[in-house]
Amino acid sequence: MTGFPKTARVVVIGGGVVGVSLLYHLAKAGWTDCVLVEKNELTAGSTWHAAGNCPNFSASWAVMNMQRYSLAMYRTLADDVDYPMNYHVTGSLRLGHGKERMREFERVVGMGRYQGLEMDILSPAELRERHPFLETHDIAGGLWDPLDGDIDPAQLTQAMAKGARRLGARIERFCPATGVSREGGEWVVHTGKGDIRCEVVVNAAGYYAGRVGDWFLPFGGRRVPMTVMSHQYFLTEEIPEIAAWSTEMGRNLPLLRDVDSSWYLRQEKNGLNLGPYERNCKAHWVTPGDPMPDDFSFQLYPDDLDRLEWYIGDAMERVPLLGTAGVGRTINGPIPYAPDGLPMIGPMPGVRGAYEAHSFTFGIVQAGGAGKVLAEWITQGHTEWDMWAVDPRRFTAHADADFCLAKAVETYGHEYAMHFPHREWPAGRDRKLSALHDRLLAAGGQMGANNGWERANWFAAPGDVPPAAQGDDTSDAAMQTWARSGPWESRVRAECEAVRDSCGIIAISGFTRLNVKGTGAREFINGLTASAMPKPGRIGLAYFPDSRGRVVTEMSVIVHGEDEVGLIGAAMAQWHDAELLWKQAPEGLTVTDHTEAVECLLVTGPRARDILAGLSDHDLSLPWLTVQHAGQVAGVDCGLVRVSFAGELGWEIHCAPGDAPAIWDAVTAAGAVPFGMYALNSLRLEKGYRAWKGDLSTDYTLLESGLERFIKPDKPVDFPGKAALLAERKRGRSRGFVTLLVDAGDCDAPYMSTLWQGDTVVGETTSGGWGYRVGRSIALGMVRADLAVAGTVLEVEIFGEKCRAVVQPDCPLWDPDNVRIRA
Ligand SMILES: Cc1cc2nc3c(=O)[nH]c(=O)nc-3n(C[C@H](O)[C@H](O)[C@H](O)COP(=O)(O)OP(=O)(O)OC[C@H]3O[C@@H](n4cnc5c(N)ncnc54)[C@H](O)[C@@H]3O)c2cc1C
Repeated sequence: MTGFPKTARVVVIGGGVVGVSLLYHLAKAGWTDCVLVEKNELTAGSTWHAAGNCPNFSASWAVMNMQRYSLAMYRTLADDVDYPMNYHVTGSLRLGHGKERMREFERVVGMGRYQGLEMDILSPAELRERHPFLETHDIAGGLWDPLDGDIDPAQLTQAMAKGARRLGARIERFCPATGVSREGGEWVVHTGKGDIRCEVVVNAAGYYAGRVGDWFLPFGGRRVPMTVMSHQYFLTEEIPEIAAWSTEMGRNLPLLRDVDSSWYLRQEKNGLNLGPYERNCKAHWVTPGDPMPDDFSFQLYPDDLDRLEWYIGDAMERVPLLGTAGVGRTINGPIPYAPDGLPMIGPMPGVRGAYEAHSFTFGIVQAGGAGKVLAEWITQGHTEWDMWAVDPRRFTAHADADFCLAKAVETYGHEYAMHFPHREWPAGRDRKLSALHDRLLAAGGQMGANNGWERANWFAAPGDVPPAAQGDDTSDAAMQTWARSGPWESRVRAECEAVRDSCGIIAISGFTRLNVKGTGAREFINGLTASAMPKPGRIGLAYFPDSRGRVVTEMSVIVHGEDEVGLIGAAMAQWHDAELLWKQAPEGLTVTDHTEAVECLLVTGPRARDILAGLSDHDLSLPWLTVQHAGQVAGVDCGLVRVSFAGELGWEIHCAPGDAPAIWDAVTAAGAVPFGMYALNSLRLEKGYRAWKGDLSTDYTLLESGLERFIKPDKPVDFPGKAALLAERKRGRSRGFVTLLVDAGDCDAPYMSTLWQGDTVVGETTSGGWGYRVGRSIALGMVRADLAVAGTVLEVEIFGEKCRAVVQPDCPLWDPDNVRIRA
């Protein structure tokens, strides 16, 4: 095809490794009528200067999946497209300085094994066998990934470009996109060479994604939550010992990462390449005095090796050979950071027909997987693997520039940090405070952020700063463990016991609250969910499948009438759930978000009725799942919904945020004990209540997830996934959701721990924790269907240790007949 393309199905803006991979995958999926526009030469952004390291390792299941896919693809790419590349599969060593790090390694080895990877744990002596220049006297051990290595990023990009072109996709170089507009339901991408009309546009503009993202503001978009950091590595001159070793062995040294010291070191030709992630890191282009240039193609920041001094010294002690060589070349380049350091891959929040793939800190290793995932989003509307970890909708309005900067600096400086389950990171906090915030703090609340909302995780005893004699140790250091026990444990136990024996109160701020209004609102929702719509005056749990019958989301539904429905979802799901509705709402229906207009207090436990009776004029005799809109608690207007995620008698009080303190004060004065999110998590596990994006995800169908009773195929309206679910029911599900009681050691099973039967992998956990009412370690998980039978004995691999786990009957562990809830 000649001439500038005037139309295309998809226009990809940005010709870095990620944009090109997307084009390649679109073309492979048969979408060859696609155009990539690059303002300079391919790779001109971050790609050309990347070190090209390609690990499988990730603590995130989804990201590991992506990286694993990339590496498998890269190993055959040169042959697939006939484009030779420098790709050294050297293997890598990750050093562990202590017990907690070694546990992290054990966990990742386990996840990797499940994904078909053969990572291994090595002793210090074995580390030295693989890397003879390494000092290991103070090292606990390490992780070996035989498939890690380094690839030439420019060659990788060109290889995929060749593959894409060969299939018919177009690449327009030196063709800057300058804006977008909408015409007749299509996008028009304006470029320096002319306009291109298209159905779908993709922002893959690397560190320019913020600029490109701003073009979508008039179409419902948001400011891209990203910060540009500077990342440096330097190359040494040739080191004769390395040259000699390499010649003798016929291969390069394995890539080395000292993750506790925060640097990587690998062989580059016959020298070394050292790249630290320094605590004293630097963001660029964040102040008016340091504006982002219009064009930074193939440019670098000035060297700033002083910043790396400590890291260079540390690396020299670890590999003394490093100190023998002079510095050859330094690369200091822009690297984009999302607030959590993971990329943004998926639908562009708020905008129809637009997607994004940007903010990659490890874009070379992730490009292959990112291309696959985004091509699936675009061509099929869903992805093979659940990709919430990288979904752009995970950051909502609180992710403004200050938040992004604070988080980027924190994340970059802790790039290799362990993410312990009880550790809350300090940057970017206090974005959304409930009216109860001061009261929670005064009660000892140890806060955690969820979609920006500050919620109490647990309540510490007063005098909480060590070394105060009676106070709990709430220091950051005390939180850095994978173990169940810690300063929080006795408090969480007491909170659970209060809920079990008496009454607890918890503020669950930030529940997503959506309202659908207009003619046929009820029918509209009914046509999206597989579940029954509750009758007026009641609340019902509704599951929303995709066309494959997999779980997209779960929301509680309250029908106000034929023309108005209220929906309540997880706090994290705010933009995700809203989009599910507004993208499909027919003309005349409005979807509004009033998350910030309502506070939720859950009052629950056997004494809940007694406590509320003295404070409320609602009818407390109405049964489970009833909703009362009118009434007062403590003299203020509020709604009462008879549900309890804790699995005890209880009511959610829905009130105006400003009225919450009066209710809190009255209910606690009447004897309700504050409890936090850790206790709530424990309590819900005992009931087998699923959590969104752990137990409930697009990795599983509704049937696999054990949600049969929420599927109503006989209702008069059709719903997504109905045919798939009926077909699955007919042939029998291949996996089943189970509750397991685990003979755990000092750690409970984290998400995605492998389930074994003998030497066979038979499933995975989707969440786990201690149940204080049942006094056991619990795991929820997914197993081969024939094993989802009560009494089946399996093993769950927890940080490398296989622990006996027994499948429980298909009913809650606590109060199996729901007598307490219905009391
Ligand atoms: C020093 C350093 C070392 C690194 N080492 C590694 C590593 O070892 N392993 C790893 O995985 N990652 C590494 N990275 C990260 C990696 O470089 C990036 O994650 C990756 O290159 C991102 O690719 P991309 O395609 O998203 O963005 P980019 O490569 O920045 O591509 C975006 C493209 O969009 C183009 N563009 C922008 N605006 C427009 C417009 N308006 N119109 C048309 N085109 C436009 C740009 O010119 C650019 O070519 C490193 C980064 C740095 C800085």
